[in-house]
Amino acid sequence: MKAFAMLGIGKVGFIEKEKPVAGPYDAIVRPLAVSPCTSDIHTVYEGAMGDRHNMILGHEAVGEVVEVGSEVSDFKPGDRVVVPAITPDWRSEAAVRGYPQHSNGLLAGWKFSNFKDGVFGEFFHVNDADMNLAHLPEDIAPETAVMLCDMMTTGFHGAELANIELGATVVCIGIGAVGLMAVAGARLKGAGRIIAVGSRPVSVEAAKFYGANDIVNYKDGDIVDQIMDLTDGKGVDNVIIAGGNSDILVSAVKMTKPGGTVSNVNYFGSGDLIGIPRLEWGCGMAHVDIRGGLCPGGRHRMENLIDLIRYDRVDPSKLITHKFHGMDKLEEALELMKNKPKDLIKPVVIID
Ligand code: NDP
Ligand code: ZN
Repeated sequence: MKAFAMLGIGKVGFIEKEKPVAGPYDAIVRPLAVSPCTSDIHTVYEGAMGDRHNMILGHEAVGEVVEVGSEVSDFKPGDRVVVPAITPDWRSEAAVRGYPQHSNGLLAGWKFSNFKDGVFGEFFHVNDADMNLAHLPEDIAPETAVMLCDMMTTGFHGAELANIELGATVVCIGIGAVGLMAVAGARLKGAGRIIAVGSRPVSVEAAKFYGANDIVNYKDGDIVDQIMDLTDGKGVDNVIIAGGNSDILVSAVKMTKPGGTVSNVNYFGSGDLIGIPRLEWGCGMAHVDIRGGLCPGGRHRMENLIDLIRYDRVDPSKLITHKFHGMDKLEEALELMKNKPKDLIKPVVIID
């Protein structure tokens, strides 16, 4: 089969590979809509997960089941499914503890385009299909649903990890697709005031649509100063980090009130250490929690997110700024994610 792959650090291209085979609990899926992710850029161009050769890229897909193993009971060929970016091993100690993202190793629930081939092929393999797939309702378009696999679950996880109290003041640093879903998640969690940090006009407009009250442009000066000004020097209750460089945690801690939470879903792609500002963290005694997590995956999470769309709590289709048709367009779509032009939030490739 044909697939779009990472050939080595900094190199991508189309390759031929064997069609994957389903084990007894697995499924083989044909993609209907896929989307490249900023994480694919970290993986390919920063070598963030180490070198990979001829590994098929992509971890965001909606598709049609073409084959299931003998023990799969809830899915059959022809079913349209949402495939989460994170497909844990549910029979693992970490899953029992409530952290399936780390089943059988740190971040090891993230299999596609990391520990195994991703979804940018004519077919791809899904482990533990009954636990990891969700049925796609007829009334949700595949290109809308592909925003669930990673963008919505990650942004919402940022809001979940932030422990937002009703009425709290929340900052979302970064308003790419992930940060925008963090804004939407913060609003659903009951934030009072939401301050969004970003610069691309298309993202700024979308941030207001999803619930941001104030916009801070990091290109206009230090974001800590700007947010302190906006809050009369008080700082904020919760900060969700969904963008920025390796110093962004320093800024986040500086703007958080004692008792507040810094929640990170950003992917720190380089460097060995990440700094925490000693004085502003109360010499370690500020009661400011610093948390971070890989997005939840699996069937139950996807089904919950599907309901948020079906019952009009959130519309992720506003994230899609570029639509392509055909697998051949994957390279162009990935290139967009790399270059982040001003009019881009998220591209989708529809496989007709
Ligand atoms: P984008 O690149 O689209 O968005 C990044 C945002 O951060 C933009 O709004 C950008 O502003 C802003 N930004 C850039 N530099 C700074 C800065 N110095 N200070 C403040 N803001 C800044 O990324 P995505 O939304 O696609 O992804 C966000 C992060 O989430 C990535 O690191 C990605 O790898 C990670 N991720 C994590 C997952 C998880 O499970 N934890 C899963 C999926 C993704 P501008 O408007 O100027 O572009
Ligand atoms: Zn991703």
